[in-house]
Amino acid sequence: MSLNFEIERFLLERGALKVGFATLETLSGGPPSADLEYILPEARSAISFALPLDREKIRAFLGKESHSAHERDNFEVNIRSSRLAKALAIWLEEKGFASKRVISNNIYRTEVEGWQLSMPPDLSHRYVAVRSGVGSFGWSGNVGIKGLGCTIILGTTVTEAELEPTDPVPEEESFCDRCKLCVAACPSGMFDAEEDTSVTLGGVTFAFSNRSSYTGCQFVCGGFTGLHKSGKWSTWSPGRYRLPDDEKELMDVFMRAVANYTKWPERTDGTGGYVNMALSDTSLRLTCANCQLICWGDKAATRENYRLLTKSGCVLQRENGDIDVLPSRDAARAFEKLTPEHKSLYE
Ligand code: SF4
Ligand code: SF4
Repeated sequence: MSLNFEIERFLLERGALKVGFATLETLSGGPPSADLEYILPEARSAISFALPLDREKIRAFLGKESHSAHERDNFEVNIRSSRLAKALAIWLEEKGFASKRVISNNIYRTEVEGWQLSMPPDLSHRYVAVRSGVGSFGWSGNVGIKGLGCTIILGTTVTEAELEPTDPVPEEESFCDRCKLCVAACPSGMFDAEEDTSVTLGGVTFAFSNRSSYTGCQFVCGGFTGLHKSGKWSTWSPGRYRLPDDEKELMDVFMRAVANYTKWPERTDGTGGYVNMALSDTSLRLTCANCQLICWGDKAATRENYRLLTKSGCVLQRENGDIDVLPSRDAARAFEKLTPEHKSLYE
């Protein structure tokens, strides 16, 4: 029985949806975050796998019925992914191969100047996943699987074992139909609807949408703001900042928003939150990820997710911390009636 087969069985028996294998060669020529030796100097291969998110909880999140149910599920699946990657590393070590798991999220190369803003990951789970055929890039740059879309969390283990690489997903097997609803669902306008960019890994080129500003995503994805520029819907964040196109102006507003965020009252709509190492003294909430969550790898289901999101209304936070979800006009009116001190914390 080959080691590839044994590893695949180990992961599938523990809930993985799909398993793939990449090597130093198949990741060669990629960006720094495709470098397996950064994780383990003696690395030769990486194992990629995907775990499922709970779709019912995603629907409730997008439709603003429940914030914390998906937030909790998301954190739990990320923890499960990190634990499974570690269990595999230990199992491989017992077979005599030096191995190391990669934490599922929120680990950055802190030696890179300005890492708090650029957030360079220690290893890109996405690159290993697309090169090994666990999933493919959608237009958003999220990784997905046919029939599941992007409702997955990736995991990776790096090892010195020499494994047989697996092939990328063929173009015709991609889950992405270029519907571009991920572009429409992004309040920060991060994705270009027409222009693409690409990454080349081991001689294979993968394309996805060109990005505008990463600061915009950090602004929204960090939970500091959430109102879509149409004013008609928001993420789960009560922030209502206008995001300037100019990067310098955007950074100024972002810094002000981060300072204001620390003065927001504690939310009363369920406990949750996480600490991002780039802002380690602040608890952040998962309020967006729309680009990932709406994409279910099925045209009708993705369209329905987009409908739910854009009809879900806007979030408003009261002075006592209560979170109200209101139709957009009511939210705008209620926001104007807040005390000037409280209002100034959100715009
Ligand atoms: S939302 Fe549409 S365009 Fe975007 S990644 Fe999913 S299928 Fe592709
Ligand atoms: S997480 Fe939200 S803000 Fe960030 S790119 Fe996705 S949709 Fe846009």
